[in-house]
Amino acid sequence: AMGTQEAAFVDAVRHRHAVSAVPRRDDQRRHEGATFTNVADTDPSVADARAWARGLVVRHVAPPEGALRVESVEDVDRVVARAVAASRSWSATPARERAAALRHAGAALEAARGDLVAVMVEEAAKTVAEADPEVSEAVDFARYYADRADELDGMPGAVFEPQGVTVVTPPWNFPVAIPVGSVLAALAAGSPVLIKPAPATPRCAQVAMAAVASALPPGVLTVVLSPEDEVGRRLVTHEDVTRVLLTGSIETAELFAGWRPDLQVMAETSGKNALVVTPSADVDLAVADVVRSAFGHAGQKCSAASLLILVGSACTDDRLRRQLADAVASLRVGPAADLATGMGPLVEPAAGKLRRALTTLDEGEEWLVAPRRLDDEGRCWTPGVRHGVQPGSWFHTTECFGPVLGVMRARTLDEAIEWQNAVAFGLTGGLHSLDEREIEHWLEHVEVGNAYVNRHITGAVVQRQPFGGWKASVVGPGAKAGGPHYVAQLGAWRDGPDVP
Ligand code: GLU
Repeated sequence: AMGTQEAAFVDAVRHRHAVSAVPRRDDQRRHEGATFTNVADTDPSVADARAWARGLVVRHVAPPEGALRVESVEDVDRVVARAVAASRSWSATPARERAAALRHAGAALEAARGDLVAVMVEEAAKTVAEADPEVSEAVDFARYYADRADELDGMPGAVFEPQGVTVVTPPWNFPVAIPVGSVLAALAAGSPVLIKPAPATPRCAQVAMAAVASALPPGVLTVVLSPEDEVGRRLVTHEDVTRVLLTGSIETAELFAGWRPDLQVMAETSGKNALVVTPSADVDLAVADVVRSAFGHAGQKCSAASLLILVGSACTDDRLRRQLADAVASLRVGPAADLATGMGPLVEPAAGKLRRALTTLDEGEEWLVAPRRLDDEGRCWTPGVRHGVQPGSWFHTTECFGPVLGVMRARTLDEAIEWQNAVAFGLTGGLHSLDEREIEHWLEHVEVGNAYVNRHITGAVVQRQPFGGWKASVVGPGAKAGGPHYVAQLGAWRDGPDVP
């Protein structure tokens, strides 16, 4: 049966109206801790974000001017020609000047924080606690890539050469940080950019790109909006486009590469990520990190934890199981604009694999926490935990991209690592252990791009945790986003005059 709070949630999502965030009567009750145990709530930076965001998130942010609506395939040729023209001056602009533009873009993004949070909450159903750090990540990308651009012209014996027009095709799950990061990296490397926002989140991209474009000469950055699939195809296959930076599915990456074999496709794709917990782990910390990793943004992150692999006596640890079940069952679901919400609705109704993961158990599995669908449409769910997921089973190896966690029970750490590695992808992974030897052993053998020890496995921080995958999670040269080589890999290097 649905409580009144859940009914209000469904109603808000169905009518697509933002629920007023200010002032809230039950804020008081929330702090008494009766129903709300979202771990993120204990983080003081999140509390601050929530405090200042009062009154911001309920506002509708109109899309700014400046995007080009592209209706036909012929229009694509026009926007590409404009980018090619811009390429001449932008690639000739000294890298230090490009870096300065990126710093201005960072300042403009910071100044637009309120609008960016508001539009992410409204359009992408992000909670404030998820949206606010995403703005910070975008600003971090601007500053960090500016520093990397500064280094490009000073390499002894090597000359950096920009590579022409780049197309960016970002995802809807990080509708600000990922497009901003990709666009700024390409710009830092001297390429003009055409960005085609994810169809689900065009306004997030437009608000972010308006801030970025305010720091650039005209023509260097173009937002291409189009309802036509053919337009996307024409953009990617246009002979004057050198490269595509994609964050999306491996299928899309293969599709692009198949369309045009000489196109450079660089992609960050999917993950099927596991967090391993050994008997030596700090249970409180482990449970908090598992919940945050699995259910932040309703599990709609490539980096999300989709498997929890318990090792040895951790499998039979009642306290761990009870704490996990309690933490998940009490995670407060609600509209994204409600500041008390721990987990918001899905961006799109659960279909296909996700629907199956939320509704159907396989051999040997039982629900530790059964998910419930709260609306007819299928966007509003409570989180679920499948217990007893078998090695080699469907859920073990399939990315489902939503609020479902599967628990597996391994006899040894080696067995856990074997299962963790037995998937096609290799994006993120985690270990909770207080034993140095276990940590060393795990780090030695786990096959993931981002390995985290005693920390949640989402929310990579620019510079501190450069983000990128291994195995099927990455296409292209694979330097990590937010890492030292990401910008440098976007150009060609030739020998400079001072080479002996
Ligand atoms: N960079 C994000 C994180 O570390 C994930 C990005 C994605 O889901 O594509 O959580």
